[in-house]
Amino acid sequence: MECDKCGDDAVLHAAYSGLHLCGDHLCRAVEKRVRRRIRDDGLVPDDATPEDPETWVIGLSGGKDSVVLTEILTDVFEQDPRIELVALSIHEGIEGYRDESLDACRELTDDLDIHHEVVSYESEYDVRMDEVVEDDPEGMAACAYCGVFRRDALSRYAEELGADKLLTGHNLDDEAETALMNFLEGDVSQMAKHFDASLGPFEGDGDGPTDRPREEQDHHVPRAKPLRDVPEKEIALYARFRDLPAHITECPHAEEAYRGEIQELMLDLEQNHPGTRHSIMAGYEKLAALAAQTYGGDDAETDFGECENCGAPTARDRCRKCNLLDALEAV
Ligand code: SF4
Ligand SMILES: [Zn+2]
Ligand SMILES: [Zn+2]
Repeated sequence: MECDKCGDDAVLHAAYSGLHLCGDHLCRAVEKRVRRRIRDDGLVPDDATPEDPETWVIGLSGGKDSVVLTEILTDVFEQDPRIELVALSIHEGIEGYRDESLDACRELTDDLDIHHEVVSYESEYDVRMDEVVEDDPEGMAACAYCGVFRRDALSRYAEELGADKLLTGHNLDDEAETALMNFLEGDVSQMAKHFDASLGPFEGDGDGPTDRPREEQDHHVPRAKPLRDVPEKEIALYARFRDLPAHITECPHAEEAYRGEIQELMLDLEQNHPGTRHSIMAGYEKLAALAAQTYGGDDAETDFGECENCGAPTARDRCRKCNLLDALEAV
């Protein structure tokens, strides 16, 4: 098949748009969508100036998504003194997995010449995920512990690095899966939180539901997901064609069984009805905006105090991370 733009050999047939694209035109199409998302979400505020720039911390795992995000953001903002980029990686203590992906992170950030910080669970919490999985005091999946520690480490360090925003590499498939899971679980307040945490624009005229800006939440650094319009497969191809150092092995502890089922369902649906992921997200964003109008602010109004042990924002006396660390210590 030939590229619809230039006639070279096509590497992708995007069934949802009908387009055949060569490597070069695929990369351009991906970059265009990321730039449009940055604009539509109002990521660069009017008051950012070269004298008083915004700092964006990128959660860089070394997997293809965060590597592609870092590459494209650097490219877009390299010449723009209003935005400063910093990469932040987390080492969970998973033998034979994270060491290699951190090599990929170092190679990339050296190449792009951006500041790179690494935080490990071991130095922060004196735990390693390999041991957490062995001990498992709460009888939970590995990712349930890991997610709590990662969120804590990311927000604390993002704050320490002076972040105005925390950017992550979630792609269209990730977001559509989360949307579908929230639908199937009937979790409307989770939809509202999803909107306020990372879907809603930073600025908007408030006319339609999707123009509604997200609620400001002063207890954490606001997040954004500039790759959320790009299908996973296109990100993988982008990494390959730009020859980026992305790490592809899966974490040995990954076992989000329900998400796995949803993933398969979504692949089948997309194959039989191209465009399903896009239509799920188009409808979901409107619904999540309405949910945020009704339930939103819940989070902002909740009385967020500080954890008595570590000072992290929490609505209880002690945060979830400190409780998990106590349970692990008691093993
Ligand atoms: S797959 Fe689960 S355990 Fe592995 S790094 Fe991700 S969250 Fe942590
Ligand atoms: Zn082409
Ligand atoms: Zn705490």
